[in-house]
Amino acid sequence: MKRTPLPRVLLGPGPSSISPKVQEALGQAPIGYLDPELFEITDRIRARLRTVFGTQNAFTIPLTGTGMAGMECCFANLIEPGDKVLIGMHGFFGERMAEIARRLGAEVITVQAAWGEAIEPKAIAKALASAGKVKLVACVHAETSTGICQPLEEIAKLVREHDALFLVDTVTSLGGMPVDVDRLGIDVSYSGTQKCIGAPSGISPITVSERAWEVRQRRRAPVEWYFDWVLLRDYYDSPHAYHHTVPVNLLYALDAALEEIEEEGLEARWQRHIAVSMLLKEQLKELGIEPFGCAAHRLPTLNAYCVPNAVDNEANVRARLLQDYGIEIGGGLGKLRGKIWRIGTMGSSATPRNVLLLSAALRTVLN
Ligand SMILES: *Cc1c(COP(=O)(O)O)cnc(C)c1O
Repeated sequence: MKRTPLPRVLLGPGPSSISPKVQEALGQAPIGYLDPELFEITDRIRARLRTVFGTQNAFTIPLTGTGMAGMECCFANLIEPGDKVLIGMHGFFGERMAEIARRLGAEVITVQAAWGEAIEPKAIAKALASAGKVKLVACVHAETSTGICQPLEEIAKLVREHDALFLVDTVTSLGGMPVDVDRLGIDVSYSGTQKCIGAPSGISPITVSERAWEVRQRRRAPVEWYFDWVLLRDYYDSPHAYHHTVPVNLLYALDAALEEIEEEGLEARWQRHIAVSMLLKEQLKELGIEPFGCAAHRLPTLNAYCVPNAVDNEANVRARLLQDYGIEIGGGLGKLRGKIWRIGTMGSSATPRNVLLLSAALRTVLN
């Protein structure tokens, strides 16, 4: 017999919970991919995404696919075989960027920070100085695998001095903390809808600067068809040439989520993420659970905590939280497996009520 799971309290590394309004939008009747009313919706989404990204970039679209589609799409449009690419890595998702760039034939140079630390701009400067002509520098703003925020300002300056493009993963920051694409001089960024935006997964907002667009136009090797920015622009911009059947219901949901962001106000939303993350810290401190990673760079959207020594099977704790209380939190990824818990306070999941539910449940499970 088929059974739909009961609603969960989603406090993992994504997806986050969606609001009743977003859930209702998801259930509206679909319309066609060339319906004029659809383009009213996508134009509104695009305008609101520009606000959330902090950009005027004309080419800002809700790409079909999850965050990984955004990552793949952005690299695929800019990288040609033999290009030199510098990837700053401070966790699992930085490693994925490097893997994607390699598969596209790039010569990949990596600058690594320990998991739990941010990348030193000096290390990027040194690598750029000795690398020769680097076409693109990429890093992850909010490393979901470690809970660490990468400061971007100094790196952005170095990239500009080198006359390279700057690509930033904002999957776990967009909508939960400032992103500032134009002010920092980020050329390309992709995100995901199921983390701090408060919509279901399946859309990857992306934004592309004029400089990056020109680099795309000058390339010689063709781009993989589905992700080609030029073809996608011809669909999203008038006169709207058919490209693929966009997931209309996901766009309805994204539209509703972005409307909620507008109503709340970006500043207030960022503050809410900080306040809820602080409350979580206080609550877990009472249980003797200590934060993981460098204190100066901890994210308000994804909170990494060390599994207490007294716990010998952390996976059991997570399983009990889910089975007995309907609460999801995440375990460690890659080399942090078994060592940390990852607690997302993102989008609609970021509420004091959820934090208090989790700490009460954890108190019982740990006793
Ligand atoms: C979740 C995440 C991704 C991947 O997104 P999917 O929606 O799972 O494809 C990429 N980068 C970061 C930093 C993430 O947190």
